[in-house]
Amino acid sequence: MQSGIEAVSESFLSQQRFVNDVSHELRTPLTIIRGYVDLLESYGATDPELFKEAITSIKNSAQNMQNLVESLLFLARADQGRQPLTKVPVNLDELLKKFIEDYHSPRVKMSKFPPCKIMADGEFLKKMLAAFLDNALNYSTGAVKIELTTSDGAATLKIIDKGIGIAKEETEKIFERFYRTDKARTKLSDKESSVGLGLSVAKWIADRHDIKISVKSKQGEGSTFTLTIPTI
Ligand code: ADP
Repeated sequence: MQSGIEAVSESFLSQQRFVNDVSHELRTPLTIIRGYVDLLESYGATDPELFKEAITSIKNSAQNMQNLVESLLFLARADQGRQPLTKVPVNLDELLKKFIEDYHSPRVKMSKFPPCKIMADGEFLKKMLAAFLDNALNYSTGAVKIELTTSDGAATLKIIDKGIGIAKEETEKIFERFYRTDKARTKLSDKESSVGLGLSVAKWIADRHDIKISVKSKQGEGSTFTLTIPTI
């Protein structure tokens, strides 16, 4: 059993790590914003190209910081038990179809979905799906397939990409807060936000719905995230 001292020092260490991670994630967008503001101050009035570039980068960096803060607030509320879910019967096939249409991405291909009913909080479910789909789109360049099948008592939802993939030893770690693979760090431009919290949020929502997540992936070949969802 853990002694009181051990528990306190462990919580201190994890708090330190947390502050470290958050500071680190805020540093990049802040550096970008500061850099462009300095440039604008010196040349902005005379260079319309620079002006356009600066505004786009500042906007993207601000968006990245906003995403970070929103994910942190979500997880903080979740940790404190202040994230209530309202589960009602939901037609998963209909929700999925609408969710994908709202993405307006020609890269997302869906199979024909069979009718399927689950107990879920629709808004939370969409937040979870967005985490998987955003990743599949961000870490690949081609089509992303969404498949839904049903068998007794469960629906199986697959999100399939042919992107950069994940090394075997990393597939467990990607659900940890702030974890990102080295490949992912170098792949994304600062336009795409990546702080390593999306899957932590998705896992929390999946757990609240008794959804099992499994990952099959091969570096350089792509990833398949399979969700097993209890049906009613
Ligand atoms: P991020 O905001 O960095 O995408 P996530 O928590 O959503 O954070 O994912 C954690 C990490 O898992 C990513 O940084 C990436 O390294 C890896 N990952 C997740 N999904 C995929 C995918 N479909 N293909 C390749 N790597 C992925």
